[in-house]
Amino acid sequence: MVRKNTVTFNEMMNEIKQYIKHKENIDLIETAYYFAEKNHSGQFRKSGEPYIIHAIQVGYILALLRTGPKTIAAGLLHDVVEDCDVTIDVIKDMFGEEVASLVESVTKIGALKFKDEKEYLASNHRKIFIAMAKDVRVILIKLSDRLHNMRTLQYMPLEKQKKIASETLEVYAPIAHRLGISDIKNELEDLSFQYLNKEKYYEIAKLVEKRKAERDEQVQNMIAEISNLLDEHNIKYRIFGRSKHLYSIYKKMVTKNKRFEEILDLLAIRIVTDEDPVCYEILGYIHAKYRPIPGRFKDYIAMPKVNMYQSLHTTIVAGDGNIFEVQIRTEAMDEIAEQGIAAHWRYKENIHGGREVHQKEIEEQLHWFKDFSVMSDDVNDDALEYMNLLQKDIFEANVYVMTPKGKVIALPNGSTPIDFAYRVHTEVGHHTVGATINGVLMPLNTKLKTGDVVSIRTSKQSPGPSEDWIKIVKSAHARNKIRSFFQKQENEKRSLDIKKGQEMLIEELKRRNLDVVSYSEQKRIENIAGSLSFSSYNDLMYAIGVKQISLAAVIERLVKHKINIPLNNEELARMFNRQDRKHKVSQSGVRVEGVDTMKITLAACCNPVPGDEIVGYISTGQGVKVHRKDCPNIINEKQRLIHVEWDEHIEQKTYEVKLLLKSNDRNFLLSDIVTVVSQCKAGLQHVDSSVDEDRISATTKMTVVVENAEHLRSLIANLKKINSVRSVERVIQ
Ligand code: MN
Repeated sequence: MVRKNTVTFNEMMNEIKQYIKHKENIDLIETAYYFAEKNHSGQFRKSGEPYIIHAIQVGYILALLRTGPKTIAAGLLHDVVEDCDVTIDVIKDMFGEEVASLVESVTKIGALKFKDEKEYLASNHRKIFIAMAKDVRVILIKLSDRLHNMRTLQYMPLEKQKKIASETLEVYAPIAHRLGISDIKNELEDLSFQYLNKEKYYEIAKLVEKRKAERDEQVQNMIAEISNLLDEHNIKYRIFGRSKHLYSIYKKMVTKNKRFEEILDLLAIRIVTDEDPVCYEILGYIHAKYRPIPGRFKDYIAMPKVNMYQSLHTTIVAGDGNIFEVQIRTEAMDEIAEQGIAAHWRYKENIHGGREVHQKEIEEQLHWFKDFSVMSDDVNDDALEYMNLLQKDIFEANVYVMTPKGKVIALPNGSTPIDFAYRVHTEVGHHTVGATINGVLMPLNTKLKTGDVVSIRTSKQSPGPSEDWIKIVKSAHARNKIRSFFQKQENEKRSLDIKKGQEMLIEELKRRNLDVVSYSEQKRIENIAGSLSFSSYNDLMYAIGVKQISLAAVIERLVKHKINIPLNNEELARMFNRQDRKHKVSQSGVRVEGVDTMKITLAACCNPVPGDEIVGYISTGQGVKVHRKDCPNIINEKQRLIHVEWDEHIEQKTYEVKLLLKSNDRNFLLSDIVTVVSQCKAGLQHVDSSVDEDRISATTKMTVVVENAEHLRSLIANLKKINSVRSVERVIQ
């Protein structure tokens, strides 16, 4: 197929007219040519040739591959968007959607910078081309473009030569191989080799040249022998020798660690016939005459390779002792072997309707893709499952987009530049302010398409993601990152408010001349938080910080509860719960002689308890009030007093008593008091402690609940034993 010298427009058209005849198709190609020629006019390649020459060669290679008119038109136009000021829309208007889309895709691949660095893993290459394989024609155009560029690489600066050559070897040659286009693959490899390792290239070329005459003779002799053999049996065939291309010799020398001679000793012959069974017939005659080398026979007709390659391979020893590798195949198989997918999917003019062609392309694409997925590790059991998975991933679930540097990023369908940004890096995502898709500034909610080249604009000034983004993004990854950003932001703000609350409290304590250290103690604040309906220290500080509660209210509560009460003391909690119990003394337990029905209540001023000496006071309309005999409130009321006495059969009655306790101020005083009350099995209704003006003494008012005077006396005696307590007295109001 390959014709390496430069062709003219007419030569290209002649090749095209071999298989494209319809006028509208020829017109399309010619219009594309004249349009390209006009737009490239005045532009020259590094070789000095007018630019349009390049476009013609690309068109010609595509014609040799027997691609359709739209592909050739796109091939002729492939550089007008990038190099001339022509927009895709203009192409669309003039040549239709399909041609425009081909040109656009080729332009996009052109914008990618492939590197041969390790960061570009095989899987990444695979993804790029699978992505591009949305339309296999794009790859064919790109390969044709690259082939001609490689053929004219000598005009490039040295540095660029190496870069382009290694990119070709790393990316384009393997693609051509995967597509089964060995013609192009071999040429690309040899051209790259020539630029990457000039010395080795010419060394091998020289060795090949030196042995050429001898080898050619050996091959010609063998061809004559086999031809005689096949003629005897009236078989239709073509037979020819074939030479290995230089790079494959080099590769074998390196990877198999063989000497040049060992590799070159293998002579190769190919026999092409018309039908499958004839291939086996030929094989039979050859094996009957020459000794085959065991283990070298391969039947790729019965079991084609994944890239659809079919052939019989055998290795035989000739009479002169030379070893020959023989390939036997049909013309159709040979075409596929040479041109791969291009042969399989060769343009047939009379199949009308782009749809059908398009459908075929997709089928081919799947073949190609299948081949791709087993790229590195030939066929194995996992390959099929892996392929199915990948296929699902690629054709159903994902879009593949690229960074301007050519890094491929896979995202779920419907993803936006924001998803892309978060995939690049979380910080890029957080600081995104805009996005460029294929060079055009686009809204952040634009849905990305496979093949898009996306560039994110970020700003350090950006305050972070917008909450709307959560609704826009498609990937769970981006959504999680945005959510956690806001979560973190909220947490940070809360911490700041808590800190602010603490500072405000301290400021206020200072202003009121209160003991900052002790009042701002976390434990102490926790003790009052509950009573202000906050569940924790932090909650209360936050409320202060955001001014949900006034500082005055908090400080008031703090001062009231000034004395430390260890909160987690269960016993304490139980005691305070007693407050809820009603210690009503309405059934007072006091008997009045001769009176049964009279209402008798205990006086609230002196709180008598059984065992106290008591006296009754007849109040107006309120029955009898029972006072202690020494109560000052009744001293001048002798006429109204009557004799009363405690009922001897009081059962389980309790009585409130108010006490006044004087002490030195100290920590844990209240705690000690409560403990003593508890130990004495008395109840505690109320306790209120405050520091006296001297700032040394404390006065504690408490209401205790006792059974009788004896109980009370014992309680008071024990309270007096508390360290720093100076006096305990019953209060009479
Ligand atoms: Mn080009």
